[in-house]
Amino acid sequence: MDEPLDIVILGGGTAGWMAAAGLAGLLPPGRCRVRLVESDAIGIVGVGEATLPHIKNFNDSLRIDEAEMMRATNATFKLGVQFVDWGFKGSSYLHPFGVHGSAGAGLGFHQQWRRSLDAGRDWDIQDFSFACMAAQANRFDFPATGKPTINSTYSYAYHFDASLYSKFLRQVSEPRGVVRIEGKVRDVEQDPDSGDIRALIMESGERIAGDFFIDCSGFRSLLLGSKLGAQWEDWSKWLPCDRALPVPTERCGELTPYTRVTAMDAGWRWRIPLQHRTGNGYVFSSRFIDEDKARQELLDALDEPTLAEPRLLKFQAGRRVRSWQRNCVALGLSSGFLEPLESTSIYLIQIAIMHLLPLLPGKRHDQRLVDEFNARMDVEYERIRDFLILHYHLNTREDSELWRYCRSMEVPDSLERRIRLFRHSGIVEAYKDGLFTPPSWLSVYIGQGLTPEHFNPLAEATPLNHMLRELDELREDIRDRVDELPRHSSLVARYANAQQASDALLHEAEARV
Ligand SMILES: Cc1cc2nc3c(=O)[nH]c(=O)nc-3n(C[C@H](O)[C@H](O)[C@H](O)COP(=O)(O)OP(=O)(O)OC[C@H]3O[C@@H](n4cnc5c(N)ncnc54)[C@H](O)[C@@H]3O)c2cc1C
Repeated sequence: MDEPLDIVILGGGTAGWMAAAGLAGLLPPGRCRVRLVESDAIGIVGVGEATLPHIKNFNDSLRIDEAEMMRATNATFKLGVQFVDWGFKGSSYLHPFGVHGSAGAGLGFHQQWRRSLDAGRDWDIQDFSFACMAAQANRFDFPATGKPTINSTYSYAYHFDASLYSKFLRQVSEPRGVVRIEGKVRDVEQDPDSGDIRALIMESGERIAGDFFIDCSGFRSLLLGSKLGAQWEDWSKWLPCDRALPVPTERCGELTPYTRVTAMDAGWRWRIPLQHRTGNGYVFSSRFIDEDKARQELLDALDEPTLAEPRLLKFQAGRRVRSWQRNCVALGLSSGFLEPLESTSIYLIQIAIMHLLPLLPGKRHDQRLVDEFNARMDVEYERIRDFLILHYHLNTREDSELWRYCRSMEVPDSLERRIRLFRHSGIVEAYKDGLFTPPSWLSVYIGQGLTPEHFNPLAEATPLNHMLRELDELREDIRDRVDELPRHSSLVARYANAQQASDALLHEAEARV
């Protein structure tokens, strides 16, 4: 067998520990040796608290017990994102992790719904989504498995404490062979001929050499950005928010199984319910509001008492044109950041790991692998970029400069084309690679006020009265079944009670003394 590849990960935030866990858990034994360098003094950004359903696959593939992970990270369940005041003031809709209508609706359920509008019904399309209805009722249960039924038409993700998730992954990774090195990197040694990174030089003077480096150093991007000079692509003309003020508040009484994001005059505010506290923050554009005013607007809008002062984070929406250069690949914030609206950053870390594993080189550089990885990441980033821009662009708000700017800005051609198609007759492009399937696009288009001008004639295959009766029955069925679900708060308490788990640990420790 070839000698193991010596991999050095710089950074111990979500990106660093997900990479470590992925390499240690998914590669055959002996394929690589993994060391992770992180600095306690620098710490981690620690604000990625809402996730997408894909993270469950990641955890499952690492044989992580779900309830254990949830207890360790104070997690709750997430069925989607509620958007308040986005398309227009007073509006509210949910982007669910699931379809509208029953499974296997073929042409797209929304075509039937659009036809029902012409027949004089003013049904809310959300009434046909099991996930939307469950979320609105603050109820949650695991999706049914086996035969497709209406309660198997959704998936779920988590809200969790991001700092605790990194710690949890560390506990998973170290027994699987990952070696952690604490300390600050002072310098980076490069091969004078090839330009490859050879070693990290620590403040202590220690030299950490490797064959392959994974840059997870956060916004600093010490290896890919600072050392290798990877080019930055600025997307802030489409995604103008460039500041965030996160602030934790006390736990909310009823845990909502969804993230709430409320549009503000110069950006938007999030609310994420965890078991022990609520995560909040204001993401805003410094072109349209100053920091003091944003801070005040945020504090005025909070539902629960604060647990700390808001702290300012600065960023620019965009990404490194190539996440992999020479013998270094960047994951997480060091490769790019598109702002947190649809909780896509942790997904981007995960998908980058999944693309990287089969393309991981041997001891020698191979440009074909690099190009393939970068091409796959281009697709991922651009899909998400367009989807996020849609939220800003598709609005009819007249009350603030930011929203007027976003409505009138020129958007990428790829997005312009998609919007035109949907406006015409509800055509939603389905693509094979990349995030966000048609139900996601659909919920944002309709939620933000864009109703197709026509329905697709193929939707007329069923006689109208028959179709309307079926829709009505479906609505009823969903309502009845949702009523039978447990409340989200009680299911979390029963399945993954973090407080009970920490009390048990305390008792165990006391018993040992
Ligand atoms: C306001 C905001 C809200 C967000 N919300 C979400 C969300 O809801 N969902 C989501 O998916 N994502 C979200 N994100 C993104 C998410 O926070 C990040 O993608 C995720 O935390 C990964 O961060 P990271 O590991 O890349 O960087 P970091 O957490 O910053 O980690 C960087 C690591 O590098 C180390 N390091 C840096 N320099 C050195 C050095 N010189 N020597 C040694 N070590 C060093 C640090 O010690 C640290 O361990 C949000 C981001 C922001 C800004």
